[in-house]
Parts: sequence; C-alpha cells; structure tokens
Amino acid sequence: MIDLKGIRKAYRTGSNILQVLKGIDLHVGAGELVSIMGSSGSGKSTLLNIVGILDNADAGEYRLGETLIKDLSETRAAELRSKYIGFVFQSFNLISYKNAAENVALPLYYQGMGRKKRHELAMDMLGNVGLRDWAHHLPNELSGGQKQRVAIARALVSGPRLILADEPTGALDTTTSKEVMDLLLQVNRDLGLTVVIVTHEHDIAAMTQRVIRLKDGLIENAHVDPASLVEHVR
Ligand code: ADP
Ligand code: MG
Repeated sequence: MIDLKGIRKAYRTGSNILQVLKGIDLHVGAGELVSIMGSSGSGKSTLLNIVGILDNADAGEYRLGETLIKDLSETRAAELRSKYIGFVFQSFNLISYKNAAENVALPLYYQGMGRKKRHELAMDMLGNVGLRDWAHHLPNELSGGQKQRVAIARALVSGPRLILADEPTGALDTTTSKEVMDLLLQVNRDLGLTVVIVTHEHDIAAMTQRVIRLKDGLIENAHVDPASLVEHVR
C-alpha cells in the first residue's frame, strides 16, 4: 500500500537548513493498522504529510499502491487524495458554520455529487459512527469525541483505501481516546482499510498491530511489538 524508499525532507528557514527526514525506508501493507511514534519534532507529521500527498519529499521514492508519487500537479495530487485517502487530525478540522452532516458531505461536494445523494451518504456514514441523531448540530454543540467521530465519518465518506490520522486522540481524554481508537480499529477490521496513526501516547500505539519508531530523522525500529508498550502504560 505504502512504499517509501530513501525519503528525505529538509526545511529551510533563512540560512538554516533543518534535516527532518534523513532517508526513510518503510513499507505498510494493505489492511495493516500501524502507529508511528516519536518525540515531538521528530518529523511524524512531516512524514504523514508526504504519505498523504499534502507535501513532497526532497528525495527518495514514494509509491502509493501502484502509483509512483512524483512531480504531480496539484490537481492530480488532489484527485489521488480524494480518491484514496481519508485524513483525521488532532484538531478535527471541522468547518464551524456547517453542521455534522454538511461537514461529512463536503468531500462529496468537491467530487461534484448532487445535494440529495451526498446528504444521504453523509447520513449513512454518521449512522455508522453512531451520530445520526447529531447530524444537524454544529461542531461547537458536540463533545470532542463526537467531533472526532464526525471527522472520521468525513474521512470515510468517499470510500478511501487509506486513513491517515495525525494525533487523532491528542485533544481527547483517556476514555474518549479509547472510543475513537475503537472506531479506527473497527474501520480497519470491518472495512479492511489501511490505517496509519501518528501518536506519542504509548497506550494509543499499544492498540495498533505494529509500532514504527521514528528517531533523529530515521526509522529506528519499524516492528515494535505493541505488547512491549503495555508495561510502560501501567
Ligand atoms: P512532529 O509531528 O513529530 O512533532 P513535525 O514533522 O511537525 O514533527 O516537525 C519536524 C521538525 O520540522 C520540527 O523541528 C518542526 O519545527 C520543523 N518543521 C515542520 N514544518 C516546518 C515548516 N513548514 N517550516 C520549517 N520547519 C518546519
Ligand atoms: Mg506532529
């Protein structure tokens, strides 16, 4: 599903160059549920943004499925994103003046789907995340956990193959975090989607199948056993 070889990324600020990714080799197979851990500033979001075709690597090779992601126009990148990838962010990124159903329907609007059909699909998807009764509420009328479930419904509505979640539980309490993780696990198990979760929380990473550790711009360990984190949690 995801194949990265020798991925490098640096940021230039003034005369400074910060090497963030120094040659990332990583494979994530179709249907896997993995987490990426690393300290703050270790490049987790940078890596996830490259995988999500929101940003380009400076060097290296990235294949998403069969597609070589290289020198794409913004139009083509947007097309691949909307077809294959659903995004979930720490801050939910819901549009504040649109209700839950409208937020979920938005990706379908961009795909040119008619109003009635996209509302129908959005309602179905809200039903799947247990929020049918909240469809007409604005984000500020929802709890953090509900907002993240709306965001997950929005990520799923266009039938992606891959879900990328950047600190999806970073703004949630422990109980709500567990509920959001259970939903992501369910998405992986029942829909067979590949799910990549960036987190710095051990108990979140411990719920995934495989933990990938990022350190100093490199993959330190791509096969950490989640069970080995459990002791840390207690
Ligand atoms: P993480 O998600 O692991 O906390 P990031 O990928 O966000 O780390 O950032 C890695 C490093 O790159 C940090 O030192 C951050 O300050 C820097 N960085 C991230 N984005 C930019 C940018 N657009 N311009 C300059 N520096 C950046
Ligand atoms: Mg980050």
